Amino acid sequence: MTKQQEYYLDNAATTIPCKEAVEAACYAMTSCFGNPSSLHRKGFQAEQLLNQTRATIAKAIVADPREIIFTSGATESNTLAIIGAAMAAKRRGHRIVTTTIEHPSVLASMDYLASEGFEIVCIPPKDGVYTAEQFAEAVDEHTILVSMMLVNNEVGLILPVFEAAKQIKRKYPNIIVHCDAVQGFMKVPVRMKDSSVDLLSFSGHKIYAPKGVGALYIKRGVRVLPIIHGGGQQQGVRSGTESVPLIAALGAAVSAGMATMPEDSSHAVGLNTMLRERLKALGMEINSPADGQPYILNICPSPNIRSEIMLHFLEERGVYVSSGSACSRGKKNYVLDEVGVNYPDSAIRVSLGRYTTKDDIEALITGLTEGVERLATT
Ligand code: PMP
Repeated sequence: MTKQQEYYLDNAATTIPCKEAVEAACYAMTSCFGNPSSLHRKGFQAEQLLNQTRATIAKAIVADPREIIFTSGATESNTLAIIGAAMAAKRRGHRIVTTTIEHPSVLASMDYLASEGFEIVCIPPKDGVYTAEQFAEAVDEHTILVSMMLVNNEVGLILPVFEAAKQIKRKYPNIIVHCDAVQGFMKVPVRMKDSSVDLLSFSGHKIYAPKGVGALYIKRGVRVLPIIHGGGQQQGVRSGTESVPLIAALGAAVSAGMATMPEDSSHAVGLNTMLRERLKALGMEINSPADGQPYILNICPSPNIRSEIMLHFLEERGVYVSSGSACSRGKKNYVLDEVGVNYPDSAIRVSLGRYTTKDDIEALITGLTEGVERLATT
């Protein structure tokens, strides 16, 4: 049986690990298997791999390697940042500001803090966007933490995180600012030195590294209490033996990705423009903002066809897209409601990546055209 051709357009859910990441993980597992806390040579070699990745990430975001903590992914980074920072600052206040369009790992951490007596203020977008002033106006003297994402994972909306952080700190210098940078890291320029952002979360599997690894940047001097307790690794902030193979793979993916970032970005802009033109010619509605991040395009092929029906129709043709973020599977898509999408139940998220080709876009367009013809009448 011949294998069906596949067209992967779900890069915001996860990316294919790059060759460099796979090789680095293999090397760490076979040649560098020591426990980084061991005092002998094998331990030291493993620790060196961790240090290399720390240095690579620090260079990518213009930070100090000591400010990087490895985690199991952005769900953990977000949870550690939000709960850890709130618990460390609870004597100063109890009020926390966030947005209504955050990832569930942020919103669920906020729910937990609400159950612990914190006051959570969620700001909705204004006419589909956020301004820095909205955040500056939302904080007061009781606020201890603000958490906002860099790029929304459903529609690609870019939030003015760095400007908002600056304005917040100008009013209240002690407020801790956290950013979930998962969909922006290595796509939108990020420079932590001299920035007002204190905590920044990343995930490996959105940037061509494996799943199950991520990082949290913690600005020097900012206190975050641990949520995992144990052997005191990583300055006691995140106990547990570090996953050396996954962390080595993360370092290799970041290093490879930083080198190709300008090319990757113009590749995504080119494909995004092509896709937008083709969709417009077909009369299909585009839910993503025109000035959004080019890697994510949320669309409405037809208001009469539910997202899942179209998704499976495309899947039968080897075209993989999403009907919303993988983490909110089966749940109502609150982000699309918040940003004012007309037909949230018919939305399809197409997400591009370094390995996306024009053929993938053509296959999608063919699939969507056939889907609208066939499904709308059934
Ligand atoms: N934040 C955002 C914006 C995301 O898109 C994701 C992944 N869907 C996460 C956090 C969670 O990352 P991870 O899968 O590494 O836990």
